[in-house]
Amino acid sequence: MNIFIITLFFIYGLVLGSFYNVVGLRIPEGTFFKEKHSYCYTCKRTLGWSELIPVLSYLFQKGKCKGCGNPISPIYPIIEFITGLLFALSYILFGWTLMTMVSLIMVSMIVIVTVSDVAYQKIPNKILLFFLPIFILIQIFLPVVTFQSALIGTIMAFTLLLAIIILSKGGMGMGDLKYFTLFGFIFGWKLFLLLFLLSTIYGALVNGVLLATNKVTRKTKVPFGPYIGAAALTVLFFGNQLLDLYLSLL
Ligand SMILES: [Zn+2]
Repeated sequence: MNIFIITLFFIYGLVLGSFYNVVGLRIPEGTFFKEKHSYCYTCKRTLGWSELIPVLSYLFQKGKCKGCGNPISPIYPIIEFITGLLFALSYILFGWTLMTMVSLIMVSMIVIVTVSDVAYQKIPNKILLFFLPIFILIQIFLPVVTFQSALIGTIMAFTLLLAIIILSKGGMGMGDLKYFTLFGFIFGWKLFLLLFLLSTIYGALVNGVLLATNKVTRKTKVPFGPYIGAAALTVLFFGNQLLDLYLSLL
C-alpha cells in the first residue's frame, strides 16, 4: 500500500466532503443552483478562500465565523474528516479496482444524505434520484450481486419498511423507506438483511446513550438516515466477511 496515494485519496475526500456539506444543506433548501458562493449561515457574508480549507479553516478560526464571531457547527469539519477517511479506506480495501469507484460513489451519496437528514430530518428525493441511475448502470455493467438477488432485495426492503411505517406510526418516514429500498437493490437481499440488522443495532446503541445522558427524550425526533448510512458503509466494507462469519457460526 502506497502511503502517498492513500494520502491523496484522503485529501480528495476532505475537499469533496466540504462540497457535500454544501450539497446536503442546499438541495433541501432549494438554494443549490442559486447561490454560487459559500457563505456564513448566520451573517450571510461570502467566505474568503482562507475560510474554505477543509477542517483547517475551522481549527484556525477556533470554530467561529471571522465576520460575526458566531460559532460554526462542528458537523462541517467532522463530515469533511469522515469523508476523507472513507475515501482513504475505499482505496486501502479495494485498491485500483472498479470496486473503489463504486465505493467512492456510495460514500458520496451517504455523506450527502447524512448532512440533509441531520440538518433537516429529510432524505431528499432529488439526491436519491440523482444516484439511482448511477447504481442501475453499476448493477447492469458491474454487478456486485445477481439481478435476482437485487430484485428480491428491493421488494424485501420496500415491504419490510412499509410494514414498519404502518405499524410504528411515524417511527420511520418515507425517506427512510426509499433509502433502504435503494440499498436493497444495490446489495441484494442477504446483505440487505445484514444492513437492516446493523442499522437497528446502531440506532439502539446511540439512542440508548443519548437517552441515558439526557441529550434527548423519548419524544425527540431522531433522524434514522445516519444509522442506515453507517450500516451501509459497514456492509460495503465488511459485508461478505460478516456474512461468512455468521454462516460459520451456524
Ligand atoms: Zn458569520
